Amino acid sequence: MNQVLEQQTDTVQRLPVMESFYTLQGEGAHTGKAAYFIRLGGCDVGCHWCDVKESWDVNAHPKYPIVDIVEGALQHPGRMAVITGGEPLMHNLTGLTLALKKAGFQTNIETSGVYPVSGVWDWICFSPKKFKQPHPGIFEQANELKVIIYNRSDFAFAESFVPLLQPNCKLFLQPEWSRSNEMLPLIVEYVKQHPQWQVSLQTHKYMDIP
Ligand code: SF4
Repeated sequence: MNQVLEQQTDTVQRLPVMESFYTLQGEGAHTGKAAYFIRLGGCDVGCHWCDVKESWDVNAHPKYPIVDIVEGALQHPGRMAVITGGEPLMHNLTGLTLALKKAGFQTNIETSGVYPVSGVWDWICFSPKKFKQPHPGIFEQANELKVIIYNRSDFAFAESFVPLLQPNCKLFLQPEWSRSNEMLPLIVEYVKQHPQWQVSLQTHKYMDIP
């Protein structure tokens, strides 16, 4: 391991964990794969349709040492960890990701991209929100762009990021859950006309799993 990164592996660092659970990744490029989700507390993006508003207050969640977080992940057979939130990049994630990788995990993150990227990632899902500008550092690192479609103007918002991303970044449009009936037919038609995009659905909600 790189010596500088080794020094940054701070296993006594504590992070606020709202919840952690073993389930299937329901969305995006890794849909259907077993994954251990670690939902960190804290978010200041302020999406009005957010379905995890209880994650926003960073002080409302108990802080656990990284070693305990990884120990929890090791209780399950899957070796894909998904760090989500909240906005997980509010925290320095170098120590957590290095500890997860050392334990044999693939490290994936779901982020709005509004903070600089910290951590060592196998997969970065960048899900920008209109309510706060992304940090430009996310563009070259994102493996996947996933834009939530809440209304028609979100298609143009999604397209605005494409020139900024790496050419191999996967592109997903996902209906906001409460607006699926209205938005999904528009997304289907959009993808048919713009085949560089794919549909992402919150399949875990259809399967009634966390
Ligand atoms: Fe909620 Fe995510 Fe938006 Fe934060 S970025 S408000 S957690 S949807």
